[in-house]
Amino acid sequence: MIALSLAEIAEVVGGQTHDIPDPSVQVTGPVVRDSREAVPGSLFVAFAGERVDGHDFAAAVVEAGAVAVLGTRPVGVPAIVVDDVQAALGALARHVVRRLGATLVALTGSAGKTSTKDLIAQVLQRKAPTVFTPGSLNNEIGLPLTALSATEETRFLVLEMGARGIGHIRYLTELTPPKIGLVLNVGSAHIGEFGGREQIAQAKGELVESLPEEGTAVLNADDPYVRAMASRTKAKVIFFGESGEADVRAENVRLTDTGQPAFRLHTPSGASDVTMRLYGEHHVSNALAAAAVAHELGMSADEIAVALSEAGSLSRWRMEVTERPDGVTVVNDAYNANPESMKAALRALAAIGKGRRTWAVLGKMAELGDEALAEHDAVGRLAVRLNVSKLVAVGGREAAWLQLGAYNEGSWGEESVHVSDAQAAVDLLRSELRPGDVVLVKASRSVGLESVAQALLESG
Ligand code: ATP
Ligand code: MG
Repeated sequence: MIALSLAEIAEVVGGQTHDIPDPSVQVTGPVVRDSREAVPGSLFVAFAGERVDGHDFAAAVVEAGAVAVLGTRPVGVPAIVVDDVQAALGALARHVVRRLGATLVALTGSAGKTSTKDLIAQVLQRKAPTVFTPGSLNNEIGLPLTALSATEETRFLVLEMGARGIGHIRYLTELTPPKIGLVLNVGSAHIGEFGGREQIAQAKGELVESLPEEGTAVLNADDPYVRAMASRTKAKVIFFGESGEADVRAENVRLTDTGQPAFRLHTPSGASDVTMRLYGEHHVSNALAAAAVAHELGMSADEIAVALSEAGSLSRWRMEVTERPDGVTVVNDAYNANPESMKAALRALAAIGKGRRTWAVLGKMAELGDEALAEHDAVGRLAVRLNVSKLVAVGGREAAWLQLGAYNEGSWGEESVHVSDAQAAVDLLRSELRPGDVVLVKASRSVGLESVAQALLESG
């Protein structure tokens, strides 16, 4: 963080100082909410949760070198006391980003935010110091904490923004107003909570509504809901996508023999070839989004293409491809699932496993509301159309729907099995897998299928 005195922080957040002998003492960072991360110079943000109350750790963080606690009551050590810790954290982030010399890039979408954020960070890092959201910390607490981790040297601040309802993205853009706003797609993630795709588009579009005239909206030309957001912004608009009209686009998109996407990247400043290290054709769209942002920030097509070709995954359980010593390949995409990413992962499995026996170990896609049955059915059908050798549907009702889809598409029995839980899937796979097989593991976060991938890798 940029150094700020306790007096200045108290003023910015509208708080009372308690037990602070010298208000000119500076917080040099980091700002932490986990007491175990406190180091000399830290500001500890105490949230009172249901199980754990951060205030209980006040003495410990000061012992570890923290300068003060930001909380809702005096705690016997230096503290800035406010009514609402989340609001105070937000106000502090807003104050700090105003003082930074960094360009703010924010992105949202239904699927691929973290993957794309990681790509953007890896591309921009080649040009100048870049700070970005760690993992998926994209909410009203993670976002300000990330923004507060920027320093005077930071030139680019890349922020993932998540939304579970109308107004959420607007709130985040008020804390950290972006200059560049990227919308990836409007899928069906959290559709149950939102009420429908129109509402999701409404919520994600708040990002481009927040942009200033001198800003840039980076929009996916291939997604009609996102394309339509062009009319909701006063900023300049650039489009990315596979469609011919996009400003940043891919030509000759293909999967290499190893299943990695390759394409010719076109930007308004030139063209260059990309062969990705990441797996799955859905990363083409993510790469184009990253390329559009990088182009807007002055990078050439060649620079961008090299960076995209060398970029790896920074976040775990997303299309992690590992070959066991016995030649079984495990594709761990168990981080999360939605209809779009399920289909992309199945196509990646088919490409990686061409000429080999392939297994799709799939569980439920959560939060689909009324579309749940149809979407699970469609995934089961696609597995059959892609000639996946074996479908292992894991879990309850949704797994039955996956299997039903496979039956409906013409799979008659042995190719598809329904097992009750992750352990049953592991037992089945342990006895059936043969060298050369390729296994994809994927479901929504709540199913926890990464345990299957881990067990397979350990038993290899
Ligand atoms: P979250 O809402 O959990 O933060 P996210 O939007 O950050 O998710 P990622 O973590 O990047 O998304 O990816 C989630 C899942 O979606 C992964 O399984 C990944 O393989 C898949 N995915 C990534 N990019 C896309 C895309 N462009 N279209 C569809 N699926 C994608
Ligand atoms: Mg994420």
